[in-house]
Amino acid sequence: MKISFLGHSAFVLSDTKRVVIDPFLTGNPSASVSAEELGPVDMVLVTHGHGDHLGDAVELAKKHGAVFVAMHEIALFAKAKGVERIEPMNIGGTVEVGGVSITMTLAVHSSDFEGGAAHAAGFVVGMGGHRIYHAGDTGVFYDMTLIRELYAPDVALLPIGSRYTMGIREAVKAVDLLGPDVVIPMHYGTTPLIPQDPAEFRKAVGSRANVVVLMPGESFSF
Ligand code: ZN
Repeated sequence: MKISFLGHSAFVLSDTKRVVIDPFLTGNPSASVSAEELGPVDMVLVTHGHGDHLGDAVELAKKHGAVFVAMHEIALFAKAKGVERIEPMNIGGTVEVGGVSITMTLAVHSSDFEGGAAHAAGFVVGMGGHRIYHAGDTGVFYDMTLIRELYAPDVALLPIGSRYTMGIREAVKAVDLLGPDVVIPMHYGTTPLIPQDPAEFRKAVGSRANVVVLMPGESFSF
């Protein structure tokens, strides 16, 4: 399993399939690749409709013939925009796509998109014997304990930027509730509104988990 950070909340998970999550590349000052340069992807996952998450998802799904996985309303929006393969879902549900299991989890956050609104969410992606939790945009919430009990993610991708999501203090609590082996911080430093020092986060997490700080363009393999 290789986890590549593209900047902000955008990641590619590569194992049996290539799964891109929240591909905000065009207009993202921290993006490590352009939407045109991004290699082929099998699936495009979108946690919620805000532009810094939906980003280039529709265009990438169309270009690569990828399966677009998102909240029901956002998936229908993508279909109306010309995406052929969609997997609409909602919080608490799981879909199996090409041997990859995708569970949609709660996120505590607002969300709208061009012409609609839909609840924000997160994902647990099960692939190659691993379970990766992408929290989307969210504050910390106690039901992260349920995510741990039901899905036991080994890697958690957590926002730490504060203002719009958890900050460091809350993300440390999330690590306590989720119990992952590895934590990768996201959603910080992209703009001056969400400054954060990942070294401070690592220090605050201490021995709870291995904090892997990725710069845009960097990858973590395990
Ligand atoms: Zn958001």
